[in-house]
Amino acid sequence: MDYKESCPSVSIPSSDEHREKKKRFTVYKVLVSMGRSEWFVFRRYAEFDKLYNTLKKQFPAMALKIPAKRIFGDNFDPDFIKQRRAGLNEFIQNLVRYPELYNHPDVRAFLQMDSPKHQSDPSEDEDERSTQKLHSTSQNINLGPSGNPHAKPTDFDFLKVIGKGSFGKVLLAKRKLDGKFYAVKVLQKKIVLNRKEQKHIMAERNVLLKNVKHPFLVGLHYSFQTTEKLYFVLDFVNGGELFFHLQRERSFPEHRARFYAAEIASALGYLHSIKIVYRDLKPENILLDSVGHVVLTDFGLCKEGIAISDTTTTFCGTPEYLAPEVIRKQPYDNTVDWWCLGAVLYEMLYGLPPFYCRDVAEMYDNILHKPLSLRPGVSLTAWSILEELLEKDRQNRLGAKEDFLD
Ligand code: ADP
Ligand code: MG
Repeated sequence: MDYKESCPSVSIPSSDEHREKKKRFTVYKVLVSMGRSEWFVFRRYAEFDKLYNTLKKQFPAMALKIPAKRIFGDNFDPDFIKQRRAGLNEFIQNLVRYPELYNHPDVRAFLQMDSPKHQSDPSEDEDERSTQKLHSTSQNINLGPSGNPHAKPTDFDFLKVIGKGSFGKVLLAKRKLDGKFYAVKVLQKKIVLNRKEQKHIMAERNVLLKNVKHPFLVGLHYSFQTTEKLYFVLDFVNGGELFFHLQRERSFPEHRARFYAAEIASALGYLHSIKIVYRDLKPENILLDSVGHVVLTDFGLCKEGIAISDTTTTFCGTPEYLAPEVIRKQPYDNTVDWWCLGAVLYEMLYGLPPFYCRDVAEMYDNILHKPLSLRPGVSLTAWSILEELLEKDRQNRLGAKEDFLD
């Protein structure tokens, strides 16, 4: 099985390139030298590619180049990585040569040029950089009832990075006041705003304005912001990702899979009852707490903007449990989460996601068109619930009528 890696603790890359745990991205460490300062930035290929495409459009005459995308084959081949890194380095050297390029806001953000400390380590977020004001990014965001106007980053000692997602990172932090540990999720306003502009913030805010509280959903204690960043102070969930455990054991016995599926279903039913569609239930968002209960993270924050194109273009990303309607970019509703529940249950029982294929395009095709093939080894009940949850037509899917009650 060569699908994803999982590891309970994720550390910042210390070597030149680093396979970010569990998501199988290679993070490239690139040296930036400008005048007398030098620093490193850590970026994924997809991020280079995005910047490159932006610049190519705006500066067609500059003949910028980055190494080509690799459509087939293993992205972790050392020779391939080496070559790619050289090409990416060259790209960066070109950027810092021309003021019209390095003064572009996207380039400045990409190269972290406005950071006084030009380095990338977990403490990067700890000190308050916002004291040096940054142009238009300093937009105040309504954090709803969770917003705590008195909280600030220096209330915490940030110990290490425990997770990295599409919008920011999650740090293990110790609150100075009482020595308690929390997981603090830090999002750059700039990135959040850049992605889908206001719509995004709205999506996020609508969730923040609701009082979301459930035993199987990560607890949000409070949130705060600086001019540049949003901080969410969450329960620190320390049992590791469910799929870390699954990967070690290949598959779970049915009674164990049933237990997790029931807890996930209960959390999803609750979210639906307060009009939140989780939408991208995926392995790395399912954590276990210290006694083995499921805790879903990452609900509601920044969902809308994550277009499927992100997934299709970053070939090496974790394939999500995409429902057919999501792949087709059709409207979706609560039933999308019941599909995902089916996918999680399937993976727990069989060790691989349904319709799995190394080639993501083919996998999408299978999700859309291939009938579900169920292998023996599970009970008839499990078999039938998988068939009903992984029903391609959302109107006939289990949960379409009365949601959780079904
Ligand atoms: P993103 O929206 O960027 O995907 P997540 O909220 O999913 O961010 O967090 C990224 C990763 O950080 C998760 O996959 C998980 O491994 C870890 N993580 C998130 N929240 C917590 C938490 N409360 N306790 C422990 N680890 C967490
Ligand atoms: Mg996530």
